Amino acid sequence: MAGGAVTRFAPSPTGLLHLGHAYAALVAERLADPGWFLLRIEDIDRDRCRPEYEAAIHEDLAWLGLSWQQPVMRQTDRMQAYRDALARLAPLAYPCQCRRGDIRAVLSAPQEGALPAGPDGLVYPGTCRARGLSDAGPGDVIRLDVARAFDALGIDRIGFRDESIMPDQDHVLTKDQFLDGIGDVILSRRGMGTSYHLAVVVDDAAQGITLVTRGKDLFDSTFIHVLLQKLLRLPTPAYHHHRLIRDDAGKRLAKRDDARALRHYRQDGATPQDIRRMIGL
Ligand code: GLU
Repeated sequence: MAGGAVTRFAPSPTGLLHLGHAYAALVAERLADPGWFLLRIEDIDRDRCRPEYEAAIHEDLAWLGLSWQQPVMRQTDRMQAYRDALARLAPLAYPCQCRRGDIRAVLSAPQEGALPAGPDGLVYPGTCRARGLSDAGPGDVIRLDVARAFDALGIDRIGFRDESIMPDQDHVLTKDQFLDGIGDVILSRRGMGTSYHLAVVVDDAAQGITLVTRGKDLFDSTFIHVLLQKLLRLPTPAYHHHRLIRDDAGKRLAKRDDARALRHYRQDGATPQDIRRMIGL
C-alpha cells in the first residue's frame, strides 16, 4: 500500500479524449504517489461506449507520457459488485417508473418558473416512493429514499473535505438541503444494473483510491457519493475538485468538441509538452 495518495483517472469511452481529459489525467497523476496512479474505464453506458474509443484512451494517455497500474479496471467487468451493493441498499430503495415528462408535470403543477434541478437533472418529487422493490418492473429505475437513508444513518448532514478549496473545513449539506437540491438519487438506471454514482463509489473503494481528483462540475455529485459510502460502510477518500478547461467562449469542453481532441492536435504536430502548456501545466 502506498504511503501517500492513490488516485485514478476514470474516463468513459464515449468519444475521443480532449484537452479537458488531458488536464484531469495529468492532475490525477501528479497528485498520486509514484506508481499509484490508476485507470478505470467507465463503460456502463453500453449504448454510447465504443471499443475504438477505449483503445484511443490507452493510446492518447501513453502518448501524453502517463503510465498506470495494471490491470485496468473496466466497469462492465464489475456488474456483480454493483448488484451486491444494490442488494445492500435494497431496504432503502424503491422502483420508479416516472419518465422525465411525468417528473416535469408533477414539479410544474405547484410552481411556475425554474424547476428544481440537481446534478442529475430535475429533483425527483417522490411520486413512486411508497412502492416496494418486489413490484419493480423491467423498465423501472431504482432510487434511494434519501430521507430514510439519513435517518437510518442517524445523521442530519453530510460532508467531505477538499483541501484545495477549503483547507480545514468540510463542505457540508444538511439533510434538507440534500433533499431540496439533489433528491432521491438513482442507484440503477433503466437496463443498466447500476448508475454512475453507485458504480463510482463501489469502484473507488475496490481500487483503494485515497484521493479522488475530478472536475468542479462533479462537486455536487460528491455529496451523493459520500452518502453512499456511509450506507455501504466504505471509506470516504479525500477529494480534489479541479478547474475545468474551457473553450474560447468560456464553455466547458465536451466530447462532441472533436476539434479539441488530443489526437487532432497530435496529427497537427503538437507534442505532449505543447498540450501541457496549452492547459497551463
Ligand atoms: N467518468 C466520469 C467522467 O467521465 C468521471 C469519474 C469521476 O470522477 O467520478 O466525467
